[in-house]
Amino acid sequence: MNNEINAIAEEVKNCTKCPLYETRKNAVPGEGDSSTKIMFVGEAPGFYEDVQGRPFVGAAGKLLTELIENILCIPRPSVFITNIVKCRPPENRDPLPNEIETCSPYLDRQIMLIKPKVLVTLGRHSSSYILSKAGIKIKGITDVRGRIFSLFMFDILLNVMPTLHPAAALYNPQLKVQIEEDFRKLKNFVNTSL
Ligand code: SF4
Repeated sequence: MNNEINAIAEEVKNCTKCPLYETRKNAVPGEGDSSTKIMFVGEAPGFYEDVQGRPFVGAAGKLLTELIENILCIPRPSVFITNIVKCRPPENRDPLPNEIETCSPYLDRQIMLIKPKVLVTLGRHSSSYILSKAGIKIKGITDVRGRIFSLFMFDILLNVMPTLHPAAALYNPQLKVQIEEDFRKLKNFVNTSL
């Protein structure tokens, strides 16, 4: 399976399907253990991710790594981390609907190959994208964060847990408490249900 995940990564690195390829330094296909039970999906790479070609390596990435290692108590390389959109939108703007539509088939293929038991969607964009695949429309992330949705999608039974994007929680202590609370729920679910 690693070969197939690597093949997708190569396609992403050479992709010119949407205008974001013109301004990227590096595409960011995702990284981690492709036999993992837990997969994380954010929205798009930021400045540091674009420079390094790796997902979640800036300040928000540091927080995500701490949540994974300190609350879930698993090493970051044991999970798979990626985004819906694989190239950085200029000035870190939100990805546009046509960019999500063009790029998301890469994510869909990654999910179908990895077949995680739990998909953690980080922030409104990825939560909205994944839940919409099951016909669930959300108004905002606060309505759904911390809930586990058991859905048959991507040809598997997938448990989807939306939570906040770590970047939102970085400088907001109240949101940091909320994302930590969601990760504790996730740990409990992983320990009791997987
Ligand atoms: S964002 Fe996605 S679709 Fe657009 S160029 Fe990058 S890899 Fe290709």
